[in-house]
Amino acid sequence: MLKVVALAGNPNVGKTTIFNALTGLRQHVGNWPGVTVEKKEGIMEYRGQELLVVDLPGTYSLMANSIDELVARNFLIEGNPDVVVNIVDASNLLRNLFLTMEILETGLERVIVVLNKIDVARKNGVEIDVKEMERLLGVPVIVTNARDGTGIEELKRTIVAMAEGGIKTRPIIPTYEPEIEREIEHVSRALENTPLSARYNLRWLAIKLLSRDSEVIKLVLRHLGKDKMDEILGHIGEVEARYKRPLDLIIASQKYEFIDNLMHRFVIHERAEGTTLNDQLDRVLTHPIWGLLSLALVFYALFKFVFTLGTPMQEFLDNSFASLGTTVGEHIGSETLRGLIVDGVIGGVGSVLSFFPLVFLLFVGMSILEDSGYMARAAVVMERIMRKFGLPGKSFIPMVLAFGCNVPAIMATRTLEDERDRLITMLVNPLVPCSARMVVITFLAGAFFEEHASLVAVGIYFVSIFIALLSALILGKFVIRGEESPFVIELPEYEVPSWKVAIIHSWERSKEFLRKAGTVILVGAIAIWYLSNYPVAMGSGGSYAERIGMALEPITKLMGLDWRAAVSLIFGIIAKENVIATYGVIYGVGEENAALVSLMRTAMTPLQAFVLALITTLYIPCIATIGAIRAEAGSKWAGVATLYNLTLATIIGVLVYHLGTLMGW
Ligand code: GDP
Ligand code: MG
Repeated sequence: MLKVVALAGNPNVGKTTIFNALTGLRQHVGNWPGVTVEKKEGIMEYRGQELLVVDLPGTYSLMANSIDELVARNFLIEGNPDVVVNIVDASNLLRNLFLTMEILETGLERVIVVLNKIDVARKNGVEIDVKEMERLLGVPVIVTNARDGTGIEELKRTIVAMAEGGIKTRPIIPTYEPEIEREIEHVSRALENTPLSARYNLRWLAIKLLSRDSEVIKLVLRHLGKDKMDEILGHIGEVEARYKRPLDLIIASQKYEFIDNLMHRFVIHERAEGTTLNDQLDRVLTHPIWGLLSLALVFYALFKFVFTLGTPMQEFLDNSFASLGTTVGEHIGSETLRGLIVDGVIGGVGSVLSFFPLVFLLFVGMSILEDSGYMARAAVVMERIMRKFGLPGKSFIPMVLAFGCNVPAIMATRTLEDERDRLITMLVNPLVPCSARMVVITFLAGAFFEEHASLVAVGIYFVSIFIALLSALILGKFVIRGEESPFVIELPEYEVPSWKVAIIHSWERSKEFLRKAGTVILVGAIAIWYLSNYPVAMGSGGSYAERIGMALEPITKLMGLDWRAAVSLIFGIIAKENVIATYGVIYGVGEENAALVSLMRTAMTPLQAFVLALITTLYIPCIATIGAIRAEAGSKWAGVATLYNLTLATIIGVLVYHLGTLMGW
């Protein structure tokens, strides 16, 4: 059996960087059982020895406030790691040592503390007496700069030595004021000589019980039964009544005090706050007005970057797939088979794959913004605004990403710690028009509104964003109720981001997009091909697709749209830009712009075109998006999102059409 090394630390301390430095390329990415939290494992090799390194989710404590914390805590407590490497951001010691204390408090002994980002700490004028820190903590402290690899060799050596049992530790454990200590003592005595005492640290259990940690309460209940549990909880109730404040808050604040006292003994010099470049930048970037302006600029630049670079690539891929189709088509004799391969597989998958550059670049841009530390500032600026809709400032980021593509946007909701916030953000995300829908909106606006085209297009954007935010408010009030999460955000130091890291990260992320294109979309593309070619080809009115459209016409008629719209919208579920392409096929003009425009204009009024554009943005999300929601939140929520969008689109479509008709548009 391989010895197991667990990496624990706050988010953004350099865990992944150190994980990569320890394991090289021998990595495996999956999920923790039963949850969508990413699990990374890798093999570390040192002088012929192999160890399994597990990257735990980044957490601020082990209080089990979120799935991430629960996953990390369970692994530390139940997973029996041979060595725990606690990575600490040296430039942010007070907050980071909170987790260190939480880890040591569980009774784990084979712990190594890694003081990472030592370069940043030094730049800020912070010097740390490492020997003294080591002595006080009672566990080895290794200084690293994961960026340039300083200290990694020493870390590897220490890990191996500790895994072999060659290092004795005397971990420090936080202590609290005497009255709290008495209660901890009292509760842990009640747990003595029970089945729990062999497996868990009783002091830790007692502290968690006093904090009313629901998972620990369940654990104790399972082992000791209801009577004993009631007795303990009864006592805790009395203690709480004396304090008049939840004990978990009291314990946490005393833990901070303990750390603060400790730190005074090994942090040598700290420069006064407010003088660093970092703080000066923050004053501008988190300012209520300048912050918003900079935010607008930054995101404008992001999209400019993505589309300037990505659009030519997209067109190139689009053309390449088209010519690949032609070439392959020439070699296939059977007409049916040719249709399947050329139109179905190459055409279908190609149209989605051609969006890959945009998705990839969006990830790169995001990664750069995140690594530079800017995203946290954007979240602060948006906090005030997003709160009005019941969401935290952070959920603004997935909303913005959605303008590029909803798939990465939905994956980006992972940065939201709170499950409720995350679900709401995910569910309303598809209402924000992505770049595929931009194609439809701009086409229809251009075809029907000529000089007012941009106004109409921008209008549709605003309406859909407004509906998305309003939906968030409504979902939060009536469907996914729960406490709004408190506003906690860390402002990491600004850093010069690394392109290499950004590209590697983005590639990892985009692989998921590619995998989807390879599976769901392939099936969808084949279905489209089948429905539009059997029993006769589309354009004659007799294909299955057209028949389905006609069957649905009574419903779309309510919004003033005929069966052609119904067919197009169905095909749009595969990929939204199909809405226009399908019209091309029905009219038998392909994608020849001018011909399609004039045919559509004779068949539709501007009001109908407006409704179609609006419906296209709001109705069922595309398959890749539904797949992303399913992967992140489960089938149930993917279903809810689909139904919700469909209902919403229908209601709004009917309303707008009838209001518009009444007002004589
Ligand atoms: P994680 O969230 O804990 O996995 O952190 P990452 O490994 O993703 O690192 C977060 C950011 O900190 C990245 O931009 C890293 O390049 C940067 N970083 C990591 N270690 C160091 C370090 O020792 N010094 C400096 N200056 N930056 C670092
Ligand atoms: Mg990481």
